[in-house]
This record gives sequence, structure tokens and C-alpha cells, in this order.
Amino acid sequence: MHYGEIKKTDIANGEGVRTALFVSGCTHHCKGCFNQETWDFKYGKEFTEETEEEILSALAPAHIAGLSLLGGEPMEPGNQRALLPFLRRVKGTYPEKTIWCYTGYLFDKELADGGRARCEATDEMLSLIDVLVDGEFVQEKKNISLRFRGSENQRVIDVQKSLKEGKTVEKELDS
Ligand code: SF4
Repeated sequence: MHYGEIKKTDIANGEGVRTALFVSGCTHHCKGCFNQETWDFKYGKEFTEETEEEILSALAPAHIAGLSLLGGEPMEPGNQRALLPFLRRVKGTYPEKTIWCYTGYLFDKELADGGRARCEATDEMLSLIDVLVDGEFVQEKKNISLRFRGSENQRVIDVQKSLKEGKTVEKELDS
């Protein structure tokens, strides 16, 4: 897997001050995408053991609320396979910090049973993710007043609650 950028302190992509990893590769090709260079799976640098260490160190300070995964598309199957061992490390090291993930795939469709973005890593990935912001960016539904998402079709999903209740539960955001 490759990645384009690591933002060590980011306040736009999830609750609190977070560390954000922008992975490379995206097959959605949404009209109006703000990040087209990241469609290429080889964009940026290779995600290595050193990259993992760099992010784990960035997550250490008490004021960092957790990790946000963006892209590109973290839930492309190849990226899921690369991210899963890393997410295990993040949750193992910082069980109190949250993991947010931005995906163009729908939680209850492409990421659900029989969905086209599913692979052997998906269930465990979802078990480690606290919040999934799902859905492609739709330019016609763009709304700059929305928190943590770009267009009105996108949802901020409480993944653990959804898995427990067997239905999609949207997260109540801190005001
Ligand atoms: S899913 Fe995100 S990165 Fe991929 S094309 Fe859509 S807006 Fe761009």
C-alpha cells in the first residue's frame, strides 16, 4: 500500500484533534473529488514498518483523540489487507483512542455480506473501526456546513453500535 500524506494534528476529519493517514488508491472517481491524485494506487510513498512507527508515535500524546483513515479509499480490498495488521497495533497500543475511517463504499451494501468491497479482512477491520463516514462524494449534494463530511448523502456511522444492533446506526456527534 502507498499513502499520500500523514497529518499529525488534524481537526477536520473526526472528533477532537486526530492523526490522519491519507492512503492511496481509489476506484470511485467521484465527480468533484478534491483529491484526484490519490486515485493512483502507487501515489506517494510506500507504507512501511517505519510509517507505522511514525503514526504510533504521533498518536501517543494525550490530546490526540485517535486515528482517521482517509484517501483515496481505505476500504479498497488491497488497502484493507494492508491496514488490518496496523489497526490491530493501533487498538492494541491505544485501546482508549478512536479510529475513524472515510469510505466511498456503503456500510450496509458494498461492505456488507456479498458486497463488492468485501474481502477476508473486512469483518475484522470493521470490528476495529469506531466511526465510518460512508458514501461517495456527490457534488450535487455538496454542503459545506456539514460536520465531518462533504455531501448530504454521506453518513457518520457508529460502527460498533451498528454491528451490535444489526442495523446502521448514525453517530450522535458532540456539539
Ligand atoms: S471516494 Fe473520495 S478519494 Fe475517491 S473519488 Fe470519491 S471523493 Fe475522491
